Amino acid sequence: MRAVVCHQGKLSVEEIETPQPGPGQVLLKVVRTGICGSDLHARTHSDDTADVTAEVGYDRFMRSSDHVVMGHEFIGEIAAYGPKCRKKWAPGTLVAALPIIKHGETEHLVGLSADAPGSYAEYVVVSEDMTMPVPDGVPIDQAALTEPLSVAVHAVNRGDVGKRDVAVVVGCGPIGLSVILVLKAKGVRTVIASDLSAGRRDLARRCGADIVVDPTVESPWDIAAKKGKYLTRTGQLLNTAFEAMHILRRVPGLPWWRAIALGDKIGATPAGPVVFECVGVPGMIENIVTGVPLRTRIVVVGVCMESDRFRPAMAINKEVDLRFVIYYDPAEFRTALHLIADGKVDVTPLVTGVIGFDAVAEVFEILGGAEHHAKVLIDPSSSVTSL
Ligand SMILES: [Zn+2]
Repeated sequence: MRAVVCHQGKLSVEEIETPQPGPGQVLLKVVRTGICGSDLHARTHSDDTADVTAEVGYDRFMRSSDHVVMGHEFIGEIAAYGPKCRKKWAPGTLVAALPIIKHGETEHLVGLSADAPGSYAEYVVVSEDMTMPVPDGVPIDQAALTEPLSVAVHAVNRGDVGKRDVAVVVGCGPIGLSVILVLKAKGVRTVIASDLSAGRRDLARRCGADIVVDPTVESPWDIAAKKGKYLTRTGQLLNTAFEAMHILRRVPGLPWWRAIALGDKIGATPAGPVVFECVGVPGMIENIVTGVPLRTRIVVVGVCMESDRFRPAMAINKEVDLRFVIYYDPAEFRTALHLIADGKVDVTPLVTGVIGFDAVAEVFEILGGAEHHAKVLIDPSSSVTSL
């Protein structure tokens, strides 16, 4: 089969052996596969990432010396079943699958390991248990966005965002845009999006962001402050204690300490907005921690693979919550698929190009800095050689 192989930072279209599904595994004929920011990064910096993942117990993440077929965002048609499969879907059925697979006792990341070839290929092997049919009638280019949308579903879940919270999305690449889509689908009333690029700001608007900000012109935190009642100085936080005690201690016999504990439980002290960091470059966390109101929740979705620094004292003074997220669970993956299938999100603005294998190497070179591109899909049957 034809595949795009990554070796020593170079991508080339090669003829390789079609993988065979093992027990409980399915061979898919790839219909669409998305190019992900982590693929762009892994092509040139996989060794750094492999060192980190090895430290947390996965030592088979791709290294520059490996020959790897990347691709972990895909949909495909059932082509063949391995042994011990339930074979629930007829050959040709369009499915999505979580990009994880087990060989023996070892779990692998499909498309990010030499042991689990990905979907920049005509065929990919997936786990039958992790496979879900794409409901009838869903346009292929939209269903192909299931995986990146799952990342956003998980990030928003981890953000515990209420409809009345103000959400601020910093960075409007494919993941930031997906987060905006999920927030709006969840009914979050105020979504503020911030990005340096005019092209990406336009995409953010099309994905439903209520307010779109160029951070070089306007601070997203000033805009958020107009939308919510936030504390911006530590003095205000201390003053909530003065105010509470001034009232409570005037009531004879009142267990004021219980009243305060109850107030904490029901959220009497104003919390800040919920921020989604979707950029992933050094300095972003410091930048956000310094800018946000007190008691803000920050969900770090952007994958910064370099060492970074921020001032914990600033985060402490503001008592911000920092939450880091990765992947999603199978239920969140299904949620993403059905958000698309039911028309609850419209992912069409995200898809800015469909190319064939021969264009992949060139597209990798330009995609990182491309203003008007979000998600570029590969169609293995396409002969399109440039964006
Ligand atoms: Zn991805």
